[in-house]
Amino acid sequence: MRKDMYINGKWRQARSYTELRSPYSGEIIAEIPVADEQEVEEAIEAAYQCRKKMEHLTAFERSEILSNLVTLLTKRKEEGARIIASEAAKPIKYARDEMNRTIETYQFAAEEAKRLSGEMVPLEAAAGGRGKIGYTLREPVGVIGAITPFNFPMNLVAHKVGPAIACGNAVVLKPASQTPLSAYFLAELFEEAGLPAGGINVVTGSGRIVGDKIVTSDKVDMITFTGSPEVGKSIQKKAGLKKITLELGSNAGVIIDKHTDIKAAAARCVFGAFYNQGQVCISLQRVYAHKDIYEELLKAVAAETEKLVIGDPQEEDTDISALISLTEAERSLSWIEEAAAMGAEIVSGGKTANAVLEPTVLTKVEETARVSCQEAFAPLVVINPVASVEAGIEAINASSYGLQAGIYTTDIQTAFQAVRSLEVGGVIINDIPTFRVDNMPYGGVKDSGVGKEGIKYSMQEMTEEKLVVWNVK
Ligand code: NAD
Repeated sequence: MRKDMYINGKWRQARSYTELRSPYSGEIIAEIPVADEQEVEEAIEAAYQCRKKMEHLTAFERSEILSNLVTLLTKRKEEGARIIASEAAKPIKYARDEMNRTIETYQFAAEEAKRLSGEMVPLEAAAGGRGKIGYTLREPVGVIGAITPFNFPMNLVAHKVGPAIACGNAVVLKPASQTPLSAYFLAELFEEAGLPAGGINVVTGSGRIVGDKIVTSDKVDMITFTGSPEVGKSIQKKAGLKKITLELGSNAGVIIDKHTDIKAAAARCVFGAFYNQGQVCISLQRVYAHKDIYEELLKAVAAETEKLVIGDPQEEDTDISALISLTEAERSLSWIEEAAAMGAEIVSGGKTANAVLEPTVLTKVEETARVSCQEAFAPLVVINPVASVEAGIEAINASSYGLQAGIYTTDIQTAFQAVRSLEVGGVIINDIPTFRVDNMPYGGVKDSGVGKEGIKYSMQEMTEEKLVVWNVK
């Protein structure tokens, strides 16, 4: 199957194509356009020419287009899930979850389109404000460059395109090279949903060429990026004065205090560590268990981990499938070996077969081992004992990342203390950090990023607040 680029409402052949392979089987699943600089420029120009048309759509019309999209996505949900499973090796049951979330994300966008507004400004509260009436308008920024990662190829695109369109922006979308099919599927549905030609343009190819062109173009007003901290930082340097949001990685942690229901916490830890093969920005990577319950927790997590079914992502009972590439499997295995050489114990897993890494539980891991202090983005979890909750907080804060953290405790004071002390974008009490629903404010501190997502919050980022002052005297 050969795919074409989607520019200005037309499916356009590219000058060059590349093979897309299943990360699990290695089979060729499609041929994908590799856009060159000129083709990216055409996509940017199409968005630029469409921006006024997008701006002039009423909130009602924008909401209608997004609602039409919701209807179409709902009808073709299973097809979407199969695409995710084939290109990302996401187990089909989780690919279906992602489709449900994607639909909900666009539903939120359709609703928020109708709520977007500025505010009254009480100018007469100022000594010099007599006779002035003030209010603000929320205007779309114009053209948004959206660059997305492979791990949630439908829903993370939705988190950019949904709010961008809800505010009346035009979009140039560059999906991850490993997962372009989800983005093209979406473009097809947007066309049917009635989006003006040029409202969304999808170009695929190398991050360095396509991404760079989008980031440095004068016709792009804002960059919304989700991906690795390395690429995010390089984009920030090149983006100049453009608006920018960066949703980056983390090595998320949870603290488990004594008196916790260990069985329940262990089940959640296993889910949070191994969901989508650990390729989640808030994947649970570090567990700091109070020394009084550490042994019991470790045993319970290992027992739950052993039950996971490894296999083909298209099979109904598969829990764990391939990482996005063989290179990623080899890289994570080398990190596990490094930790073991530093004295860590491998309690479960620790082996690879092609691009599959067995779900791996490690303990007694040095904090300086990469499986602990860097983002693993693989099915592995570190469980270390701590003498107190404070020690757990200190260990979580020692990270260069700060996306979300969790704490299990039955003590309310301890919970409040953790909320105050944890240096992260979100604290989850009595659950793991691997929690996201699509209307909540989401975004990190430190190396985890800049700005917030969650439809309403993205819409604030994707609009300019214009002040209007009436002199009524
Ligand atoms: P990545 O940074 O390798 O790629 C992300 C996107 O950037 C891709 O589309 C890629 O082609 C593009 N890109 C690569 N080089 C570029 C360049 N020089 N200029 C412009 N664009 C470029 O990330 P990935 O491997 O696809 O995804 C994994 C990362 O994403 C992890 O670090 C993960 O934590 C992070 N992530 C964060 C969130 C969040 O919301 N915070 C969500 C999901 C994933």
